Amino acid sequence: MTALFDRVALIGVGLIGSSLSHAMRAHGLAVHVSAHARSAATRSKVKDLGLAHSVHDSAAAAVVDADLVILCSPVGSYGALAAEIAPALKPGAILTDVGSVKAAVAKDIGPHVPAGVHFIPGHPIAGTEQSGPESGFATLFANRWCILTPLPGCDPVALAKLETFWRRCGSDVEVMTPEHHDLVLAITSHLPHLIAYNIVATAADLEEVTSSEVIKYSAGGFRDFTRIAASDPTMWRDVFLNNREAVLEMLGRFTEDLSALQRAIRWGDGETLFTLFSRSREIRRGIIAAGQDTAAPNFGRNPEKSQ
Ligand code: NAP
Repeated sequence: MTALFDRVALIGVGLIGSSLSHAMRAHGLAVHVSAHARSAATRSKVKDLGLAHSVHDSAAAAVVDADLVILCSPVGSYGALAAEIAPALKPGAILTDVGSVKAAVAKDIGPHVPAGVHFIPGHPIAGTEQSGPESGFATLFANRWCILTPLPGCDPVALAKLETFWRRCGSDVEVMTPEHHDLVLAITSHLPHLIAYNIVATAADLEEVTSSEVIKYSAGGFRDFTRIAASDPTMWRDVFLNNREAVLEMLGRFTEDLSALQRAIRWGDGETLFTLFSRSREIRRGIIAAGQDTAAPNFGRNPEKSQ
């Protein structure tokens, strides 16, 4: 199959950037991959791992002649990066990103995009709690959704080409507005991370239960939160700073529902608890039926080592 793009530039090479590099190689999507990484240590790892054909200390140098530029750094870095690369972008190039928030990203990058460059924000709904260039793998995006949030006036040919890129990485593609994306992700991703960070912090602060007991008995449920709460702190700080309204809206609803549960426990209202827990079980079944998780018990972990 012929390569989809002659030259693709990755700006930032962590979990997502390195996974894109592996996926592009596996599916023959680019003739040349150029990469920019901020630190000398990451640039050296990118070279050692063979994640790019050329590695650049400056983001502007990495995008020269690129047909597709993908920003793969934390959301808070996009405005400054866009200002830096704008003069070097090739007319006709597609500029996209993988950030977990979309409205703020469109606002931060949009004003810097030169005429003739097609800016299409994007977000692959795929990830792990790992970070850095060593953590990527080619199948990260397989059977996962990628959401594209084109802005008014977006060129349909450029949009179709970016859709093809993600489909050839193994993803299904959905198109929606940045605002709708932010609302959906606030409940499906951002709030769960906030709850995980909070429950781990609460457990760590408990004085009556020692931290060794928290670790020893973690298979009771706690450890599944710790996996999510091990996610990259910079990335998640930027997500909450940039999706404030939608997260606060969902947090308000969540707090109300939690109060209702608290009340049901206080008043011994078993029926309310049972009805809600049964509904949740159905949602889990729906996720498995949609191929978004394994049906194996305990997430497919070795049963002998699990609770
Ligand atoms: P990561 O593994 O922590 O890698 C981040 C990369 O960005 C590193 O190469 C880092 O360089 C670089 N970087 C950080 N700050 C920068 C700056 N100010 N200027 C230039 N480069 C900078 O992160 P990731 O998990 O790949 O996430 C990258 C993006 O993907 C984020 O926007 C995130 O919202 C989005 N995303 C993440 C996931 C997930 O589950 N992880 C899923 C979907 C989307 P150094 O190594 O040199 O510091």
